[in-house]
Amino acid sequence: MQQQILVVGSLAYDDVETPFERRKAVLGGAASYFALAARLYAPVRLCGVVGDDFVQSDLERLASRGIDMAGVERRPGRSFRWLGRYNYELNTAETINTDLGVFADWQPEVPSSFRDSDTVFLANIHPRIQLRTLEQVRSPRVAAVDTMNYWIERERDALIQVISRVQIVTVNEAEARQLCKTHSTVRAGREILKLGPRAVVIKRGEYGAVLFTKDRVFWAPAYPLEEIRDPTGAGDSFAGGLMGELSRTDDIDDAALCRAVLNGTVCASYAVEDFSVEGIDRADPAAIDRRVRELERLVTA
Ligand code: AMP
Repeated sequence: MQQQILVVGSLAYDDVETPFERRKAVLGGAASYFALAARLYAPVRLCGVVGDDFVQSDLERLASRGIDMAGVERRPGRSFRWLGRYNYELNTAETINTDLGVFADWQPEVPSSFRDSDTVFLANIHPRIQLRTLEQVRSPRVAAVDTMNYWIERERDALIQVISRVQIVTVNEAEARQLCKTHSTVRAGREILKLGPRAVVIKRGEYGAVLFTKDRVFWAPAYPLEEIRDPTGAGDSFAGGLMGELSRTDDIDDAALCRAVLNGTVCASYAVEDFSVEGIDRADPAAIDRRVRELERLVTA
């Protein structure tokens, strides 16, 4: 049976600066990127909140891609805004400003039609919102969480509570170090596993992603691209490919998780090829499959 994917997370306008280009107030947010990637695999339902400044045609754009927007509330106030800058390596974002806007005091109500979702992704947002969303889904088959330094610094205890309730954690390298207070990403991966999840994926930008389970370590190199225009959304698009692939897998064993990491890697490669959501929005399932096969060839003699 077709699995249904639920995502909660930021819907945002981003100001993004790379050493080469600069864009203001472009459509972003962890949930937007995730949904645009995951919908290439299965139907996606989105929960989030926008302010009265959020452009209706941006919501319609997501809806026109088949994303069910019944869980998106519009409230008086400003939408989430993020201002980030990348250095020459384009690997890690420096946050210049985060304005939570209407997300600051939002209490999500998952629509009753979404509560039977099988696959749940708690995209980057306040851990309290992540937890409240998860608690409203009746019996998810698999749930995953992503986060970032902003929440590790401010909401560590709530975040650890969320981590202990999900099966998969995705986090980038710097944040894994920060969360586990260790320089070693291998140690960090294993420390996070001890909190309860069965898999941890540590994202390392252009150096790929590493999956840790109890019995396995798997490394996927990033898909080799000549040009990266905007790394924003790489992590969320990665999660979209990862959870999308898992949503069509009966048995979530280590082999399925490895395949999911390859799909995540490829979705991330589409996201970074262009600014905002343009790159991932252009991807299609056949193109994703082609890149997954190329990625496999990359490390096979
Ligand atoms: P990433 O996939 O990690 O590059 O995520 C990028 C997206 O995350 C951007 O479009 C931002 O709007 C969003 N974002 C940045 N900071 C936060 C935060 N503290 N909480 C939720 N979303 C955020």
